[in-house]
Amino acid sequence: MNYKKIFKKIAEDLSTIKDKGEVANYIPELSTIDPAKFGIHLTTVHQEDYCLGDSEEKFSIQSIAKVLSLSFAYQLEGENLWNRVGVEPSGTAFNALFQLETDQGIPRNPLINSGALVISDILITHLDNPKEDFLKFVRDLSGNQSIEFCQRIATSEKATGHRNAALVNLMKSYGNIKNNIDEVLDFYFNLCSIEMTCNELSKTFLFLAEYGTSPFKKERILCKSKSKRINAIMQLCGFYDEAGEFSFKVGLPGKSGVGGGIVAIYPNKYSIAVWSPKLNKKGNSNKGIQFLELFTTETESSIF
Ligand code: GLN
Repeated sequence: MNYKKIFKKIAEDLSTIKDKGEVANYIPELSTIDPAKFGIHLTTVHQEDYCLGDSEEKFSIQSIAKVLSLSFAYQLEGENLWNRVGVEPSGTAFNALFQLETDQGIPRNPLINSGALVISDILITHLDNPKEDFLKFVRDLSGNQSIEFCQRIATSEKATGHRNAALVNLMKSYGNIKNNIDEVLDFYFNLCSIEMTCNELSKTFLFLAEYGTSPFKKERILCKSKSKRINAIMQLCGFYDEAGEFSFKVGLPGKSGVGGGIVAIYPNKYSIAVWSPKLNKKGNSNKGIQFLELFTTETESSIF
C-alpha cells in the first residue's frame, strides 16, 4: 500500500480545515511548542517506514508513556497488578479525582493519571534504580539508546502538578501507594517527560503490533495474552472520556498525550504515530484524531 501518497492527500485535505483547539498550557513548558507542527510516521511489522512532515522532531510524549510503564509493570508484577488498578473505562477526564473516593483509592484503569501513579508506585517497588531502569526498558524496547527524559519539562510539571499530588495523597490514604509520595510523583513526571520523534514512537510501540515481541530487542516483552490485554486497555481507556469517540472514528487501539502525540496499533500490520500539538477539550490532539479517522477509513484498516 502506498501509505505516503495517502498521508499527503489527507494532509492536504486537512490543511483546508481550521485546526481547532489549544496547546496544553497547564504545564508551562508545553505551551512554548509551535502549534503548527504536524508529523506522521508509520512502521509496518516488516519494518517498512512511511513518514510525512515534522516526523523527525522530538516532542514530549506525556501520557503515551503510561502504556510503556504499564507494560513494564505487567511484565514484573503479573496478574497481581489488577488488585491495585482496574480495567474499566473511566468516562472522566485524565486527571479526575472524584471516582477515587467512591472506589476506595483503586483507579478505574492504568491510563488515567491515578492509575499511572499506582503503576509508578509498583515500578518503584520492583526496581533498584527506578528512573534509570525504566529508561533502559524503553531504550531496549525501541532499539534506540538515545531516548531521554526532559528535565526542563519534568521540572515544569513538578512545579504545577497539584492535581497529581492530590491524587497520589488520596490513594496513599487508602493504602494503595506504598512508597514515598515525592518519589512516586518524581518518577511519574519523569516518565511523562520522555521525548520522542514520531519515527521513534511508532518503532517503540511496534511490539504491540507484534503480539508482545520487540523486533528491535528481538525478545519477548509480554506474552501474547498480556499484549492483547494492553491493546484492549488502550482501545477502551486510551483517550479518557473520548475513548468511545476515538474507537468509533478510528477503530484502532491507541493512546494520546497532552504533548499532542497519538500512537495507534493495527495488530500484525503496523504502528502509527501522529503529532499535532493543538488539543481538543478532552486533552487529545484535534488534528491527530481527524488524520487517523481519515487514514483508517481510506486504508480500511480498522480492527473491527
Ligand atoms: N503529565 C501529564 C499530567 O499528568 C500527562 C497528561 C496527559 O498526557 N494526558 O497531567
